[in-house]
Order: sequence, then structure tokens, then C-alpha cells
Amino acid sequence: MTRQLIAGNWKMNGTIDSARVLAGGLAAKVGDGEGAACDWAICPPFPLLPFVAEAIANSALELGAQDCHPERAGAHTGDTSAELLAETGCRYVIVGHSERRGNHGEIDSLVKGKAEAALAAGLVPIVCVGETKAEREAGRALAVIEEQVRGSLPTEGALVVAYEPVWAIGTGLTATPEDVAEAHATIHGLIGELLGEGRASATNILYGGSVKPGNAAALLAVPHVGGVLVGGASLDVEDFWAIGQASAG
Ligand code: PEP
Repeated sequence: MTRQLIAGNWKMNGTIDSARVLAGGLAAKVGDGEGAACDWAICPPFPLLPFVAEAIANSALELGAQDCHPERAGAHTGDTSAELLAETGCRYVIVGHSERRGNHGEIDSLVKGKAEAALAAGLVPIVCVGETKAEREAGRALAVIEEQVRGSLPTEGALVVAYEPVWAIGTGLTATPEDVAEAHATIHGLIGELLGEGRASATNILYGGSVKPGNAAALLAVPHVGGVLVGGASLDVEDFWAIGQASAG
């Protein structure tokens, strides 16, 4: 079993000044990671990456980005390659977040291409999957998760998967520990089938969706939960730090 990963998704928030304060404050708490129970990462918007890289340089806090393009270079206005993210100091890149699937029409095959590009650049993709409220109410949550996992996961390379029910993101609603356990067991089983048992136990499966200091311990204690992907609460040093302190290790 790997250590739990506490990853922050800043989304389209922050300025150069606020990023320096937030990343610097967190880096001071994480320090060199000596004796830490979990791993830490933060994923700011693209233009903030070099500033955040500088602010966390002497800490065990890792840098991640929020998206990448499946190709290495070319005529793709507004996009960013995984190689450039690696050069900027990233270790992780989120791909297939529901806000990209929903707002930019990203489908599983594109998400898979992005994850493969991340791996080719030496990055660890954080591949997001999760059902909408309508899909859960129709009893299709596990079927949607399975379809997304089968369609989005690359077949080789070390990756992280994030289960993020769309209805729980930014809403204050969280899945129950029972629902999380069911979804994570499903994803764990699928990774075992697709990539092998060894890879299933070596893959962190994060939960994401309104994780706060008050609910983190219960979510992080669920079987097969290998950490959390945190949006809103990652924008506050004390809240994000408190979430990590709830990690079971
Ligand atoms: C996210 O953006 O991945 C997320 C889980 O957001 P929030 O924690 O704000 O629900």
C-alpha cells in the first residue's frame, strides 16, 4: 500500500502574490517531509507554476498542473504540453477533471491520450472519473465509473486515479463512506483487471468532492482510499494542512 496523497486543485484561483503566500505557508508546514504520514501536492493554474515551484523548492511538497495536451508540440493555441509542465517542475498533472469533461467536452479517449502524454513526459497523471447526480439517481454510478476507467486509463505507467462524484464537487455535499467504499473497490478491481494486481495495490485512488477538515478523517479511513483531491479547502493553508493531518498514512 502506498502512502496517501493529499492533492490540492486550485482551479482558476490565485494571483502571483497570493500563490506565493499560500504555497510558501504550506511548504513551511510540510518541510522536508521527514516523519510525514502522507505525500502532498498542489496544482495551481499554469502561469503560477514557476512562482509556486520557487516557493516550494526546499520542501517535500510536489507541484502539479491541471491539464495537458496529448501531443508534444504543434498548432494547439491555448494548450500546454506535458513536457513543458515537467520542465516547469511538475510531478503530477490532473487529466479528465469533470470541469474539463463538462466545460470543454473532453471524452475518455482524449483523457487517455493526455494521461499517456503525461507518462511519456515523466509525469504522474491524476486521472479523474465520477458520475453526475442524474447518473447516480438512475442507479448508474458504478457503470459510469467503470466506463470512464476503461476508457481513460493508460495501460502502462504509474498513475493516480481520482474518484470525484460530479455532484459533490464544490457543492458542500460529500459521498457517504459506504458509497466511497463501493466506488473505490470497483476502481481498485478494474485497475487489477486492466493493469494487474501489483499495479492495483500500488495505485493511489483519491476521493474528491467537498473534502474539508471536518470530514477528511472519515473519508481517508475508507478502504482503498489512497488520499484526497481537494478544491476549495486547498486554498486555505490551515484547512488543507488539517486535511493532511487526518491522513491514516
Ligand atoms: C476538485 O476540484 O477536484 C474538488 C474536489 O473541489 P472541491 O473540493 O471544492 O469540491
